[in-house]
Amino acid sequence: MSPKLPVWAPGREGYFGDFGGAFIPEMLHETFAELRAAFENACDDETFWQSYVDVTAGYGGRPTPVTFCENLTRKLGGARIYVKREDLNHTGAHKANNVMGQGLLVQRMGKKRVIAETGAGQHGVATATMAARLGLECTIYMGEEDVARQHPNVFWMRQLGAEVIPVTDGTRTLKDAINACLRDWADSMADTHYVMGTVCGPHPFPQMVTYFQSIIGQEARAQMLALAGKLPDRVYACVGGGSNASGIFTGFLDDLSTELVGVEAGGKGIETGEHAARLAGGKGVPGVAQGYKTVFLQNEEGLMQDTHSVAAGLDYIGIGPMLADLHEQGRVRFESATDQEVVDALRLTMRSEGIIPALESSHAFAAAFREAPSLSDDDAILINQSGRGDKDIFTVADALDDEGWKTFIRETAARYAR
Ligand SMILES: *Cc1c(COP(=O)(O)O)cnc(C)c1O
Repeated sequence: MSPKLPVWAPGREGYFGDFGGAFIPEMLHETFAELRAAFENACDDETFWQSYVDVTAGYGGRPTPVTFCENLTRKLGGARIYVKREDLNHTGAHKANNVMGQGLLVQRMGKKRVIAETGAGQHGVATATMAARLGLECTIYMGEEDVARQHPNVFWMRQLGAEVIPVTDGTRTLKDAINACLRDWADSMADTHYVMGTVCGPHPFPQMVTYFQSIIGQEARAQMLALAGKLPDRVYACVGGGSNASGIFTGFLDDLSTELVGVEAGGKGIETGEHAARLAGGKGVPGVAQGYKTVFLQNEEGLMQDTHSVAAGLDYIGIGPMLADLHEQGRVRFESATDQEVVDALRLTMRSEGIIPALESSHAFAAAFREAPSLSDDDAILINQSGRGDKDIFTVADALDDEGWKTFIRETAARYAR
């Protein structure tokens, strides 16, 4: 069944409460109108959602299971702990859902080429995979700094047939890649679609990406009823741009007995200024940037702040407008977890359950572990594991100061130096 989405603010299409909108240059107006029409048309077509479900099943491995974590439950001694396994998607994270959904829209619009920006490279790899599968041309914009830091993903994007363009403007990171991508789109919109990776940016992207990701919550709600015999008392999800959180939360929005908890990057601690907690720390300020209105981490002059997280996917200044509104309404509670808490939660999960969550997802685990012991064994909590941690081997090995890993890197480098 096609998902139901939260309603707009009265008379303000594209706004969730006070947040959202589409602040775009005039030359993109027509392209956005075309995209809105294509999306609305798809939503009205009863076969579209089913074709999306079929693609995510046959190609992506859905439905992903919910796993009861008996060992963690026993060790922490409180609520029963369940995990929604988005790590089992093709390419290892929830990003694959949205990308395949937008791929189907591209086919309906008859476009031949997709472009995307990527920070850590996960969205770039997912987009390149979809483009290869659907026979589309693909260009990925990535800050030169990120190309150097995230080389394994650059390698795979190129092997998948995508062109990766290193962006040399500004700080040579994600925000510069977004600008380069928008410039490309302004010139190429007739045959090109911009695949937005999260629930941010101008309307209709926040709504569209939520629509595709809501498959997570739709599955999870039915799975919890079958497996736990009840709805979860709390649902935890990490929040970068907010797409995995929006996806799982929409399944439970009408279930007021289910508390929804978004977990942001506490980095080195909110008091240090090196974090990406927009809502949990109360440091974010409403503003307009990158084509939409939301709560951003910015200074008094409105300049965007530098953010930090051990998890590249949570290292972002803005947040999905729907989540900003749900926070204001008090429907979603926001917490943060520090880099250290996150690495500890990752280690405990690996050792207890043989599950390797991504560093991003480990934020949700860290907050859930903090709260589970104070709940009772009648309570059930659900953690959204947005992705798998294999990609984080460089960062995690470094954080754990693993000697064997360092020797391996040294010897590999020496082999290339000869
Ligand atoms: C990209 C990413 C995130 C953050 O993005 P959201 O839009 O906030 O979901 C979280 N987890 C994983 C594994 C990611 O790759």
